[in-house]
Amino acid sequence: MYLYPVNNSLNKIAIIGGGAAGFFAALSVKQHHPEAAVTIFEKSQKVLAKVKVSGGGRCNVTNGCSDIDELIKAYPRGGKKLKWAFKEFNTTDTVKWFEDRNVPLTLQEDGCYFPVSQNSQSIIDCLMNECRRNKIVIQTGKGVEAVVPKEKGIELQFKDETIHFDKVIIATGGSPKTSGLDWLKDLGHTIEECVPSLFTFNMPNEKVKELMGIVKEEVITTIQGTKLKGDGPLLITHWGMSGPAILKLSSLGARMLSERGYDFKLLVNWTNEAKVDKVMAEIESIVQAHPNKLLPNFKPYGIKERLWLHLLERAGQAPTKRWEELGKKGFNKLIEVLTNDTYEVKGKTTFKEEFVTCGGVSLEDINMSSMESRIVKNLYFAGEVADIDAVTGGYNFQAAWTTGFIAGQLK
Ligand SMILES: Cc1cc2nc3c(=O)[nH]c(=O)nc-3n(C[C@H](O)[C@H](O)[C@H](O)COP(=O)(O)OP(=O)(O)OC[C@H]3O[C@@H](n4cnc5c(N)ncnc54)[C@H](O)[C@@H]3O)c2cc1C
Repeated sequence: MYLYPVNNSLNKIAIIGGGAAGFFAALSVKQHHPEAAVTIFEKSQKVLAKVKVSGGGRCNVTNGCSDIDELIKAYPRGGKKLKWAFKEFNTTDTVKWFEDRNVPLTLQEDGCYFPVSQNSQSIIDCLMNECRRNKIVIQTGKGVEAVVPKEKGIELQFKDETIHFDKVIIATGGSPKTSGLDWLKDLGHTIEECVPSLFTFNMPNEKVKELMGIVKEEVITTIQGTKLKGDGPLLITHWGMSGPAILKLSSLGARMLSERGYDFKLLVNWTNEAKVDKVMAEIESIVQAHPNKLLPNFKPYGIKERLWLHLLERAGQAPTKRWEELGKKGFNKLIEVLTNDTYEVKGKTTFKEEFVTCGGVSLEDINMSSMESRIVKNLYFAGEVADIDAVTGGYNFQAAWTTGFIAGQLK
């Protein structure tokens, strides 16, 4: 750990939190205000702990989407308000930033950027080297206990001392409990209730679990009674369902699903075709083309054998039946199961320990063009502590880089 003495000059800047947003904010301060004395205070013994474990140890740094109108759609909380921020620092800026510092990135087919090294340590090393080069002080094991606005600047209270700073950037990350942000509420900020996002759905009463391990490449998912829609691959697990089509729904519906106690009905369209009449036409054409084939012997929409047998059972169709024997009733039942298959969800499971917090400091209280608090002057926010979070795909780190970069301008 690099311990430089805390500079006593007038231009003292504190960053609270040594995560992605805190590091990027600190480096942005030095880029825009090279004379500033910057200190990162991290309460735990390790900085960048989440970067280390992110993306299964590979760190999905950002996403390949550079169209801002598309990009903001990945953020159920914060999207519209981030539009301006992304004009300032976008996904392409992130790629350039790391590549300019000798961390080449690679774009996967699914749109996710990872370091070529496939190791999150490359990102950590880069951020640490940049801090060392810029003489940014990093103090670990030093948690901030209170923030006290003063007529000039801000005082930070630690267990054993109080230090005065000119400006402070809060980058303390998501808080699992709303009460964890009471110290910011006490300063007058509104806190949007904190609930988990990015989780998989438990289906204790559904037989589908027996098909664990099966992936259906493209599906459309919906939560019954809502307009929320997920899409992409769906994975059947020991506990229920996971995969991008599920994680996206968990993110879009994070607050509402929490209110419902994670007790709801999931609708799956296994065909990935939103128009039911098109599915009807497709099934009709199969009946015409393969009247003598047994139902299990012609699988539509790339559905794998075990899943197809499961769907036929749910549609009440015996595997000994031929396509021509489907009849009107059987046809309608099959269409219903293919396009609107209903599963009872009871509970959730964390996805590979990868989660983000929905909620945090209300964006109404933050000037998004500077990330400065509208309540407390000289106080800025960066990263997940604000009410910003996204679906999976590198978007959460992008929010940390973007808001950290803007906060560090200290506008
Ligand atoms: C397992 C896992 C994998 C992930 N993988 C990805 C991925 O591949 N791509 C992606 O985009 N997103 C991923 N995410 C989400 C991403 O990690 C977070 O959105 C991101 O780390 C948020 O950065 P942050 O700096 O705002 O907060 P954090 O990374 O949580 O950092 C906040 C820091 O502040 C410190 N702190 C808190 N309170 C205080 C205090 N009072 N005083 C001093 N320090 C304090 C904390 O100890 C922490 O180190 C993943 C999340 C998890 C949990």
